[in-house]
Amino acid sequence: MSLFIRGAFIEGTPRSILIREGKIAALLPSDAPLPGPEDGEGGEAEAGAGVARVIDGAGLHAFPSFKNGHTHVAMVLFRGYGDDMPLMEWLQTRIWPAEGRLTEEDVYLGARLGILEMIRGGTTFFNEMYWHRPAIVRAVEEMGVRALVGCTLIDLGDPKMLESQQREMLDLAEGRIPIGDPDRVGLALAPHSIYTVPPDVLRWVGELAGRHHLPVHIHLSETQEEVDRCLEAHGCRPTVLLDRLGLVNSRLLAVHGQFLDEAELALLGEAKATLVTNPTANLKLATGGIFPYRAAREAGVRVCLGTDGAASNNNLDLLEEMKIAALVQKHREKDATVLPAREALAMATTTASEAFGLGRGGLEAGAPADLVLMDFSGPSTQPLHDPVSTLVYAANASHVHTTICAGRVLMHDGRVEICDEAEVIGSASEAIHRVLEGL
Ligand SMILES: [Zn+2]
Repeated sequence: MSLFIRGAFIEGTPRSILIREGKIAALLPSDAPLPGPEDGEGGEAEAGAGVARVIDGAGLHAFPSFKNGHTHVAMVLFRGYGDDMPLMEWLQTRIWPAEGRLTEEDVYLGARLGILEMIRGGTTFFNEMYWHRPAIVRAVEEMGVRALVGCTLIDLGDPKMLESQQREMLDLAEGRIPIGDPDRVGLALAPHSIYTVPPDVLRWVGELAGRHHLPVHIHLSETQEEVDRCLEAHGCRPTVLLDRLGLVNSRLLAVHGQFLDEAELALLGEAKATLVTNPTANLKLATGGIFPYRAAREAGVRVCLGTDGAASNNNLDLLEEMKIAALVQKHREKDATVLPAREALAMATTTASEAFGLGRGGLEAGAPADLVLMDFSGPSTQPLHDPVSTLVYAANASHVHTTICAGRVLMHDGRVEICDEAEVIGSASEAIHRVLEGL
């Protein structure tokens, strides 16, 4: 499959983009003629052309597509189900009872809905942690996006259940269970947190990840309570505990990091670990902390951006997340120069590509053809002085015109091509109403 995007703006300059076999083959002048038939494909769009499809990019702005650094995608099923409640009451009376009733099929239907929302918002990759991994992999493969789908581990007090989770993790890591389409689905080991997985099991996860060079995806330092309990139980802060257990290294994808002190940031920075901040979810759940972005960057930590699940956000819109991340940091530091628009964009694109092993993250020859075309012609994005500023501070998902992943057009001119949108929305809605009926 080849694709030619004619005359879209890249960093303010109109260029044409040639895409072949899932990669950006070349950036060309905007008036470059259609390439010749190099790969023998018939020109459906224009007779004799060497590309299968031509997209008119005139007036549109191309950016790398967005990468969601942390989510629980199927939790879109719980969007708006119990807002404005204290965290524990919300979990105990709403989320946990409902989650306990979700079947693998429900998770698949929820994952499709979340991925559809992300496609509409220009997001083509997500770092996932949830139950029913095969259902999520199936949704990712069908919907044309990419994901690092975690094998989740949590100790709910049932040793047999924990053992069976460990067995599944071992089988996945050692290749006895298929991971998914290797071009688009990756595996991470995802112990939920230091307070829901015992230290000896965390150490085991670290050793397994080390043997198979796998990333470890874990919630870390989300609340002050987590820090206090860790100090009480282990005599050290959460990152120090993780380090003692052998988990702090360049493959660590630690999520939240709200209450990290200087020594913890130094440990993470020296190890070249990644932190994923999720400002909207942290604000909504009233954790009371603000991610120490400036100190994390100064310590050398790689910082990415996530939405967390839609139950605590309540959407999966990386554009909104970029803006909120930038605003919250300016507020924290009382300094408007902190986390400028370009850094916010990098967190959700190039830095994320590096952290999640997605190859080169920019729009350049040889990079994966994962990109969006934005339409800034409407009133809320005009006049246009700086496309990156407009993207981060003024745009939202409704300004995404076209979403492309691995060279495949998932949405064009606001029309989703990869699935029957009404069916995806309808069946997810039916599924969650069925789940909640019996409660
Ligand atoms: Zn989370």
